[in-house]
Amino acid sequence: MEINLVSDTVTKPTQEMLHAMFQAKVGDDVYKQDPTINALEAKVANMFGMEAALFFPSGTMANQTALKLHTNPGDEIICDKWSHIYLYEAGGAAFNSGCSLSLLDGERGMITADMVRKAINDPEFFHAPLTSLVSIENTTNKGGGACYEMETLREIKQVCVQNKLKYHLDGARLWNAMVAKKQSPRQFGELFDSISVCLSKGLGAPVGSVLISDAKTIKKALRIRKIFGGAMRQAGYLAAAGIYALDNHIERLADDHRRAKELAFILQRLPWVASVEPVETNILIFNVQSYLDEKVIIEKFREKSIHISSMGQGKLRIVTHLDYRQVMHEYVLEILPKISI
Ligand SMILES: *Cc1c(COP(=O)(O)O)cnc(C)c1O
Repeated sequence: MEINLVSDTVTKPTQEMLHAMFQAKVGDDVYKQDPTINALEAKVANMFGMEAALFFPSGTMANQTALKLHTNPGDEIICDKWSHIYLYEAGGAAFNSGCSLSLLDGERGMITADMVRKAINDPEFFHAPLTSLVSIENTTNKGGGACYEMETLREIKQVCVQNKLKYHLDGARLWNAMVAKKQSPRQFGELFDSISVCLSKGLGAPVGSVLISDAKTIKKALRIRKIFGGAMRQAGYLAAAGIYALDNHIERLADDHRRAKELAFILQRLPWVASVEPVETNILIFNVQSYLDEKVIIEKFREKSIHISSMGQGKLRIVTHLDYRQVMHEYVLEILPKISI
């Protein structure tokens, strides 16, 4: 039994999900004639109380489309220094949209209204790039699955409105945040100009993200998705997996969160662990004692068939997910204290 805790992207479709995919009615989505994709887009837009949605092959493409929609070349985007759009989208903001990023020194990947206010360039000062967009992440990826308080998001929104800035939410793991904080999609739909959500992380679909916004913006997004090469044909098979995931895999995220907390509880008692970061959702980040090499720890875990990843500088990461089942969890809880370092 191999236990892969490297990421929540490693899940494979369940039998039930595969069954739903086999049953899907499909058409050519480039002509917007795939009934299952149309149904998924309508379903997600409706969940968030927003006008329209668009299916994407990846979260990166959905985010990159949002950045393109809300900016002009030369503009500046405000985000946290640990943002996925900065660290893990291969410089796409510069490549696709010609934008610079103003990186804020947030806490576990989360920024505040005050920090945003201070980072906005005076639009009259023509020597500086024009600030046009604030992009936030919830939950944070590099921040270890941390999630925002609704109040903070509302305060940032106010700053955006006062300064005529667009407001994008990279919600790759928004489902986790909503389950952990008991929030509803509509609360987010009210605040943001656009939201990207992922179907292939915690929800366990094999492929797919959705961008949600108003009808006019999504109409523009259709052309940008085409330019990025993301218009697909009979992709309703993938959308069917997404619909199945939305109907069946959201509430169970609470199990992933509980398991991550239980692992943290054990880890923080082990002598070779220096500290464990607070666990709010399904990501657990911990630091090993400074005299240890994290590669050695990864190898010790591997010997027990447990796969985890390194974030560098003595930090290790564990991510729980749909394919990390209770039997595996019980094995890991039992074996952790027995690993001799
Ligand atoms: C995974 C992730 C993405 C991008 O998803 P891909 O489908 O891998 O392109 C975007 N934002 C965050 C915060 C993520 O964790």
